[in-house]
Amino acid sequence: MIEVGLTGGIGSGKTTVAKEFGALGIPVYIADEEAKKLMITSKTIKRKLIELFGEEAYLDGKLNKPFIASIIFNDKTYLERMNAIIHPQIASHFKKWKQKQDAPYVIKEAAILFENGSYKKLDVIITVTAPKELKIKRLLRRDDTTEEKIESIMKNQWSDDEKIKRSQYVINNVELAKTKQEVLKIHRQILKNQ
Ligand code: ATP
Repeated sequence: MIEVGLTGGIGSGKTTVAKEFGALGIPVYIADEEAKKLMITSKTIKRKLIELFGEEAYLDGKLNKPFIASIIFNDKTYLERMNAIIHPQIASHFKKWKQKQDAPYVIKEAAILFENGSYKKLDVIITVTAPKELKIKRLLRRDDTTEEKIESIMKNQWSDDEKIKRSQYVINNVELAKTKQEVLKIHRQILKNQ
């Protein structure tokens, strides 16, 4: 079964695009959502995060996000170390999930597909892009956030140019109707290339 990676910068519209593939009957694995669940349910992740951050990493069985965010804010290496704990668990969880799917291909949607090297294991990569100002506008509308917070996340992600160089398909997600057309075109192309 073909494994297709779907990525893009914060606010580009990855989840929106993933939903369009889902509407075509393609199984979609949203890595960030699965990671959030695994951080609570996986004993291995829990143990390793407590080893990394201390007992305060969890509060009443839930991830203590403000505490972890404050540590990462002061030392960015903690983000990499946290990702190094979660990434292998996500990779094996995705593998098991994939085995249960019955479709010509599956989509793995992840914000940091390139940054953590997991793109190397995927057969096809789709990158979603949008102009920076539009991404910021969308995120300010969707989340309780600030332009400064968005910019600091953007700085830690690969540039669109770097991602595009390593992608088979690029969707410039500005108008939703056009995006839907692009999704259908790519879907047909992937089926044809099998
Ligand atoms: P994140 O990196 O934060 O997970 P994302 O890349 O998955 O974000 P989405 O959540 O899909 O992005 O989109 C961000 C916001 O912009 C959402 O509120 C979504 O509804 C909106 N949006 C996405 N694409 C479009 C579009 N083409 N037209 C209008 N609104 C859009």
